[in-house]
Amino acid sequence: MEGGQGRIFGMGWGRSDCNPVARQEHNKIMSDTLHVICPHCDAVNRIPAAKLQDHSICGKCKQALFSAHPVELSNANFNRHITHSDIPVLVDFWAPWCNPCRMMAPAFVQAAGQLEPGMRLAKLNTEEAQELAMRYNIRSIPTLVLFQQGREVARQAGAIDAAGIVSWARSRKSER
Ligand SMILES: [Zn+2]
Repeated sequence: MEGGQGRIFGMGWGRSDCNPVARQEHNKIMSDTLHVICPHCDAVNRIPAAKLQDHSICGKCKQALFSAHPVELSNANFNRHITHSDIPVLVDFWAPWCNPCRMMAPAFVQAAGQLEPGMRLAKLNTEEAQELAMRYNIRSIPTLVLFQQGREVARQAGAIDAAGIVSWARSRKSER
């Protein structure tokens, strides 16, 4: 095959759409897809990485995959969002009776607007999902836990403002 390639391009009439190298690069970019979980119906969407910035909609429910708002997680959808997501997931472990949690809630929404779509922000009500809170050894709330490829990579306890959430999350997120 390489001999043939050299001969064709040696003659100077190879076009870019026939160039096997360009073709491979093209395929590589096209196959660089990310699994993004729909915040509305929990469907796993495959989005080309290059198109993540676009206003992608869910292939199943046709709603926006990113709407500058944290996803509400529960026992039912937690594992799906954490383990299937190719983008980092930042989870706010909180409870309705916790004043600092309620104070931080608007800041977390604000941070979602700044961190999406490179990161998914999510909330888990530890009052309703006590087993998950125990599994992740949540000792105080609010606690932010950053997951990448299903693994915890960082956590921070205590309420922080939107700028604090954004800079903390960005500093802890590892580039793939
Ligand atoms: Zn959906």
